[in-house]
Amino acid sequence: MKFPEPFLTGRPAISFELFPPKTDKALADLDERLPKLLALEPTFLTVTYGALGTTRERTLEIAARIRRDFGRNVAHHLTCVGATRDEISRILDEIADTGIENIVALRGDPPLGQTEFRPVEGGFRHASELVAHIRSRGGFGIAVAGYPEKHVEAPDWETDLAHLRDKVQAGADVVVTQLFYDNDDYYRFVGRCRTAGISVPIIPGLMPIQSVDQIKRITSMCGAQIPSLLASKLEAVRDEPAKVHQLAIEHCAVQASELLRAGCRVSISTCSIRRHRSRRSWSGSSRCSSSCAAPPCLGDPGVTLRGPTIPSA
Ligand SMILES: Cc1cc2nc3c(=O)[nH]c(=O)nc-3n(C[C@H](O)[C@H](O)[C@H](O)COP(=O)(O)OP(=O)(O)OC[C@H]3O[C@@H](n4cnc5c(N)ncnc54)[C@H](O)[C@@H]3O)c2cc1C
Repeated sequence: MKFPEPFLTGRPAISFELFPPKTDKALADLDERLPKLLALEPTFLTVTYGALGTTRERTLEIAARIRRDFGRNVAHHLTCVGATRDEISRILDEIADTGIENIVALRGDPPLGQTEFRPVEGGFRHASELVAHIRSRGGFGIAVAGYPEKHVEAPDWETDLAHLRDKVQAGADVVVTQLFYDNDDYYRFVGRCRTAGISVPIIPGLMPIQSVDQIKRITSMCGAQIPSLLASKLEAVRDEPAKVHQLAIEHCAVQASELLRAGCRVSISTCSIRRHRSRRSWSGSSRCSSSCAAPPCLGDPGVTLRGPTIPSA
């Protein structure tokens, strides 16, 4: 099923975002966990690309396996980092050969220590160029990234929204947002997008907090804010992983429930999940979503739970 179809069915759509494991042992763990994750019946899954230091080959390996062995809808993330137009074309050919029908098209981040993204010679500078390239070849549904609290490099909202509109005009079918921890940021963002003439579905991305240090690192990189009440609760239990985990799950569940109650058609995209305890928590979220068949609000948003592996506590 190609984007934007999963969001136009009138039913809640659930999607999980997987971060490919870095080690062979973690890959074996994922093999064991994947069927359990798929038993939750996500509408589709997406697999990140080179994010958080993961290897790129594993993205295709895992996405292809989900498509081939389980016959599920899957989207392969793809960035402009370190690749020429021809290399991107070759990767797209490989992806298409596996039967994968969707790409999450991204620019990627500058390498650690650099503040500015520099494309390789013959590569793409902005995600909009990658989107245009994918669209010109045809064959894929395309999602792009949106930023409820503005992209860190953008000087102002107007500029950032103009660039998001460029991506949509270049051929993106849906927007998936960066993580946020206050739903009002998402609602305001959708309002801004609609005013700016961006009318495609905007899928909110929620990332469960893993640890206090992890979330501080991520939010300092991407500019997202942790609400002060949540921050102080986390700080109070920072050395007790089980309590941090519990808070993280509760906060995500509240965010998702609120979005659902707002009448959103739902897509939940989450993380690779390491322990059964975590899986049960997410089952709770997806049950919550399946009870929501209300008409969409704010266009056609869904709820996306995205994030890295939840640690064992
Ligand atoms: C849902 C989601 C999934 C992600 N998955 C991955 C992943 O798998 N792998 C990974 O490495 N990273 C991933 N990222 C992170 C992403 O690569 C970074 O956020 C990156 O900094 C920006 O990517 P982008 O696609 O939004 O870039 P762009 O849309 O190119 O925007 C980046 C910056 O450039 C500006 N800009 C855009 N066009 C122009 C223009 N024409 N002129 C001047 N400025 C312009 C924008 O305003 C913005 O400030 C993901 C992010 C999200 C939200």
